[in-house]
Amino acid sequence: KEPCWQVAMDCCICSPMASVFRPPRNSICASCYDGARCMMGFLNQLESEGQNESNPIKGLSTAFKWMKEKEQKEQGLMEKLEFLEGFVVALRDAVHTDILVQPGGGGPPIAAHRALLAARSEILRTVLSSDECKAPASESISLPELDHEALRCFLEFLYRGSLPKEEEEEGRRDRALLLAADKYDVPLLKKECEGRMLGALGPSNALDVLEVAAACSSERLRRSAMSAVVEHAEEVVFSGRYEGFALGNAHLCVEITRALLRERRDRGGDDCEEKKLLLLGGR
Ligand SMILES: [Zn+2]
Repeated sequence: KEPCWQVAMDCCICSPMASVFRPPRNSICASCYDGARCMMGFLNQLESEGQNESNPIKGLSTAFKWMKEKEQKEQGLMEKLEFLEGFVVALRDAVHTDILVQPGGGGPPIAAHRALLAARSEILRTVLSSDECKAPASESISLPELDHEALRCFLEFLYRGSLPKEEEEEGRRDRALLLAADKYDVPLLKKECEGRMLGALGPSNALDVLEVAAACSSERLRRSAMSAVVEHAEEVVFSGRYEGFALGNAHLCVEITRALLRERRDRGGDDCEEKKLLLLGGR
């Protein structure tokens, strides 16, 4: 069998010789052919979604124009994003801050801006305005469920819409951040944390994920965690963690038991079908 680059050598689109090929030299490799077809399909689908009239297929040059437009749009968005990220400098350098945010666990407080906290979270807005009623106005608020580092991540997300780079890679504080996102009603952070926890979901952390998903009523995460528990039932149920989990989460253990039995029943049904088929075949 020939290596694939030899097949592509002949392609008038992607071979290193493509620039010297001239019509009627017009062979095209399978990958370019499929790629072009997918792109046309995607473009036609987009157009028919946008306006409900059937557009004639316009060819790849339209696809290219569309891609160029998107690129320009993306560039514009990136510039805007960079502009908005300027906020985080005001947080990091504590420029004109007017409130101290106290973490739990005795770490040092972080200086922030009342206006921004109030704009990003309805809950924090209420906390801050109820403070103003007291005389004199309180100089600090407390977010006791976050330790100092988690609080820094949380605040940075409020200022720039994404977590600090190193936190994005490690994901160590996802659970604390998800709980905080739920408590202070920051849907974008909630979505971000859910996505990251879904990506890292496995038998070793399924119970923890299930617990936190139930605590902040995250249905998507809860369903996936339950599937992971059922799929790796022996590993999870016979782990030391399960005993501690059961003490604090009786209702979730009931759900796990039911899910396991349901799964066994469904699988048992398949086994019965197989046995029937075997019996029938034996006759
Ligand atoms: Zn090709």
